[in-house]
Amino acid sequence: MRMLLRGGVVVDTEPEVVARPETDVLIEDGRIAAVGAALIGDSEAADVEVIDARERIVLPGFVDTHRHLWQSALRGIAVDADLGVYFERVLTGFGARFRPEDVAAGNLAGALDCLNAGTTTVQDFSHVQSSDEHADAALDALQDSGIRAVFGYGPPPLGGGAVDPAGMRRIMARASDRLSLAVAAIGPSFVPFDIVRADWELADSLGVPVVVHISSSAQAVDPITRLRDAGLLRSNTLYVHGNNLPDSELKLIAESGAAVSATPVVEARMGMGQPLAGRLRAAGVNLSLGTDVVTTGGGDMFGAMHEVLALGYRTFSAADVLRIATLEGARALGLTNVGSLAVGNQADVVLLRTTDINLAGGLHDAVGTVVTSAHAGNVDTVLVGGRIVKRGGELVSASVPAALQALADSTAYLTA
Ligand SMILES: [Zn+2]
Repeated sequence: MRMLLRGGVVVDTEPEVVARPETDVLIEDGRIAAVGAALIGDSEAADVEVIDARERIVLPGFVDTHRHLWQSALRGIAVDADLGVYFERVLTGFGARFRPEDVAAGNLAGALDCLNAGTTTVQDFSHVQSSDEHADAALDALQDSGIRAVFGYGPPPLGGGAVDPAGMRRIMARASDRLSLAVAAIGPSFVPFDIVRADWELADSLGVPVVVHISSSAQAVDPITRLRDAGLLRSNTLYVHGNNLPDSELKLIAESGAAVSATPVVEARMGMGQPLAGRLRAAGVNLSLGTDVVTTGGGDMFGAMHEVLALGYRTFSAADVLRIATLEGARALGLTNVGSLAVGNQADVVLLRTTDINLAGGLHDAVGTVVTSAHAGNVDTVLVGGRIVKRGGELVSASVPAALQALADSTAYLTA
């Protein structure tokens, strides 16, 4: 099975960010087989599905390293809330009401929202897992959507705190080429340290990463130092936020080889502290971007890129920001075969329409144009592992009307 994306402006992120005009991308069996000029002539194209990319920017799919997909039915409900009010209203209040069908509806609509906006990989931090049915609902929805996901299995934040070992072990069988698993721990900032140790040891025993929100809190003033002292610093940990951590803590993260997901829109709106991206870069931390919660911010990586470009002042070039939103995100999740168009990688690819008025005049600098001006409405075609999930501006991997109806039903139930 071969596919040719013909004649686009191809933006790649590895080994460095580069834009190549009039370039083809050849895909074989779901993987990038070649990138170059005029790869296949008309006479050889008989057994190849050719997609005309001449009026498209072709780039690797975005990697959202932190999102709570389950909350999709509550979009916009906490825009004016700070972190404390969000905890109370969304996590404790609404979170306690979530049935398996609400998780299913939220995860499917949320994953489709990602794909629609060119996000081909998402780290889904699912801290709503109170039964096997909730987990199956979330995982089935991710599978059905067509997205690539790292599913973080986590308990509701106020139910005691430990990740359920039996539930985690049970879902390990769900891992596939598009789905990997992580322990979504509540972590040292919020729960006693014996629970932290148990969660980390569970992840170690299964060979999966830990994903965890981190901050300096009354529970733990220097949480990274506490993890280090307990022998629990791991390179395959993804810390989320950490805006109020001192530089000494960020340095420890850098030395451990772990990564951080900054979610600049939500961090700013919820008042978590000063912008993080520049400080992470200065400390040498592997930095990635997430959208976090649609209760508070938009669900696409364009918004996250705009924010980090603006709040990073002069720290980041446009190329840096694009790389953080793609390749560095993949690295943060421990995925070595996505995030760029390198030969052999999974063909997770996004095509943006350059004929749209908001991208007009920008082809001379495709990278700067993508990072500053593009939005989800420009996303024409999306591939995940070579499979088309959006084409001609329409999602094709799942029934959008059915997903919308299920989400509307869920919103009506949850907000009644
Ligand atoms: Zn979060």
